[in-house]
Amino acid sequence: MKPPPFEYLAPRSLDEAVAALAEHGDEAKAMAGGQSLVPLLAFRLARPSVIVDLNGVGGLDGARLEGDTLELGALARQRDVERLPGLRQRCPMVVEAIEQIGHVAIRNRGTVGGSLAHADPAAEWTALALALDAECDLVGPSGARTVAAREFLVSTFMTALEPDELLTGLRLRVPNGRTGSCFTELARRHGDFALAGVGALLTLDEGGAVAEARIALIGVAETAVRSPSAERCLVGHPPTAEVVAEAAAAVADDLDPNSDIHASADYRRHVSGVLLRRALETAAARARGGTDGAA
Ligand SMILES: Cc1cc2nc3c(=O)[nH]c(=O)nc-3n(C[C@H](O)[C@H](O)[C@H](O)COP(=O)(O)OP(=O)(O)OC[C@H]3O[C@@H](n4cnc5c(N)ncnc54)[C@H](O)[C@@H]3O)c2cc1C
Repeated sequence: MKPPPFEYLAPRSLDEAVAALAEHGDEAKAMAGGQSLVPLLAFRLARPSVIVDLNGVGGLDGARLEGDTLELGALARQRDVERLPGLRQRCPMVVEAIEQIGHVAIRNRGTVGGSLAHADPAAEWTALALALDAECDLVGPSGARTVAAREFLVSTFMTALEPDELLTGLRLRVPNGRTGSCFTELARRHGDFALAGVGALLTLDEGGAVAEARIALIGVAETAVRSPSAERCLVGHPPTAEVVAEAAAAVADDLDPNSDIHASADYRRHVSGVLLRRALETAAARARGGTDGAA
């Protein structure tokens, strides 16, 4: 099917883009990579009368790892982050998660900000944003504000963005030291959205016990979720097989999956425990070996 007719605006600055959204309100939609929006238009699941193309707005496509911070512009292409020098060594879960997003052609166009703003509950970026305590920068007609990822992600396809606001970028906290991380997921075919996915990051203290655990899951609730129950099982203990098994069993307490044609809620819950165990085993091995645990 072809999209319904729309007016196409191509602002050259952030101010122009915000002004266009403010002028047209609910009738307008921003477009970044178009990898989610264009299919929605083609299926007529979205019918904006104005498209505000962000691709001509400069300065929003940066991606850099500086100190403990991964700083990303909203228009950074997923593929550019995947190939950011040093990122796989420093925080393998980020690269492992991005590699599972669709296919290379989709990641070449798809943006970090577009994925978060779309807020699919199975989107890998939503897990990364939660696990890495991302701060999201938003701008609208009344100015700029910063929102933590856990507040930005409201529900399925719902975020804290107002219709006339844009996400301009985000900062993710990438710890250094005795840290290991891993992202793993289960999808029917490579490139499909995950039935369930887990990102886990462990920081060990001098004695080898878990000082900090951050676990985020996708595909198992209305939006990506952290698992405080599993994190509590880990903190203060060395990540032995028993402790990891306990955390993997506890994760189900924090999930509220749906049943659909792809998988039942029970199956998603079960798979989450299995994936978490695998992710924790890898993250723990990487943490013990220093930060450079990735292949
Ligand atoms: C075949 C296929 C498979 C895919 N598989 C996966 C997958 O496995 N995992 C996954 O996570 N994704 C997957 N995707 C989606 C892909 O990652 C998209 O690129 C991403 O979800 C949206 O990014 P985009 O830049 O293309 O945004 P767009 O499609 O341009 O926009 C998406 C939504 O975000 C809004 N938006 C975009 N940018 C901003 C901004 N800066 N501020 C405010 N609002 C904004 C738009 O108005 C729109 O509502 C797949 C897509 C396809 C076509």
